[in-house]
Amino acid sequence: MTDLPLPEADLGDATVLITGGAGFIGGHLAAALLPENEVRVLDDYSTGETSNVPDGAAVFCADVRNEDALERAMAGVDVVFHLAAVVSVETSVENPVEVHRVNVDGTLAVLERARDENARVVVASSAAVYGEPTGLPVNEDADTDPLSPYGADKLAADTYARVYADVYDLPVAVLRFFNVYGPGQRGPYSGVVDAFLQRAFADEPLVVHGDGEQTRDFVHVTDVVRALLTAASTEHTGLAFNVGTGSSVSINELADVIRDATGATAGVDHERARPGDIRHSRADCTRMRELLGVQPTVSLREGVEHLVSYRLDRAANATGRDEAISDSIAE
Ligand code: NAD
Repeated sequence: MTDLPLPEADLGDATVLITGGAGFIGGHLAAALLPENEVRVLDDYSTGETSNVPDGAAVFCADVRNEDALERAMAGVDVVFHLAAVVSVETSVENPVEVHRVNVDGTLAVLERARDENARVVVASSAAVYGEPTGLPVNEDADTDPLSPYGADKLAADTYARVYADVYDLPVAVLRFFNVYGPGQRGPYSGVVDAFLQRAFADEPLVVHGDGEQTRDFVHVTDVVRALLTAASTEHTGLAFNVGTGSSVSINELADVIRDATGATAGVDHERARPGDIRHSRADCTRMRELLGVQPTVSLREGVEHLVSYRLDRAANATGRDEAISDSIAE
């Protein structure tokens, strides 16, 4: 696989559960933890895929709110990475109550079980908790003012996790991811990097919502995995940490980076701005750097170039396989 090397895990022989481990970020995390650690994955495969789960992980195919399954998956675990969530803002707008049940009640279920197991918990939160920041870069003490039910869910989960650290002395760390991208991200809600790449490879115009001058902090999944692994052993518990790069680019600049990396010549189609989209976003990564010792290593250009090579390799392998199949049929 043409991919950036994943960071090495240093969690001793800890037994680890990843909720949402069949998803984009969870799959990369599981791969970084294996084979040194016993890795369990609990996922209902609502957006996750079996191909994201590396060989060697024990899979519990269940809803995170299923108490029996959670009890079995968490029996004897040392660390839980809680990534399972409905991640689509659109779905949260259409169906806020059901999404709340997964994103907030699911988090409470994990925190409660972690108390019983005396397990560490790392909770995936989001830059969506800030809404439109009043100042940039945004740090963890900035006002939170989510613009969607998804953002409100993430803020509730983020807050519960920190409250469990205070009230029950549970060793919890909360990571607020900015815009994560990398190999294995796909689907209708996968984000703008994947959407642009799909269009660029098809030589179709890249679809930009609004004027494209809105900015985002894109962080590569290997840097996110590094932050997750470090958060699992930090002494600085009970805190939220931004996980971004500290740099941002406009969506128009991202389109240029994707066109350069793919050689696509198609232009850009501007569509109506999406309601609820924030204008600017950029993480202040001081806390992540100073308390976790994590410094993002992958620039957007490098990350996109690796992603393009990864996709080309996969396409070539698929073509080779198809040719082999048709050769064998012809014989
Ligand atoms: P993803 O959709 O690829 O992964 C989420 C996983 O959770 C999927 O495998 C899905 O099947 C599973 N899941 C959903 N509902 C479930 C349920 N009820 N029970 C069990 N499993 C369930 O998304 P991702 O990008 O890997 O996101 C992982 C986490 O990071 C999420 O909590 C998300 O909110 C957070 N996050 C991601 C980003 C990003 O840019 N990708 C940004 C901010 C926060």
